[in-house]
Amino acid sequence: MKQLVMTSLLAVASTPALAHPGEHDHLTGLESAGDHLLGSPFHQLMFVAAIGGLVLIFSLVRQARKAKKQQAADRAS
Ligand SMILES: [Zn+2]
Repeated sequence: MKQLVMTSLLAVASTPALAHPGEHDHLTGLESAGDHLLGSPFHQLMFVAAIGGLVLIFSLVRQARKAKKQQAADRAS
């Protein structure tokens, strides 16, 4: 489980290497950065993938904790 979480975090952390061609030099402020990030299909895809990945990680962690608790309860009875 920890290995899966760590692998996922490293995969997400390395996404700038896969960024679309071009620079972000034209971004002068928060507003232009927001326009670019929300208007670019590449960045929208990254947001969706990141949110999906986070949901998956939380779901897996929750499932693992639940299974661990169930095992402890089964052992106690
Ligand atoms: Zn960009």
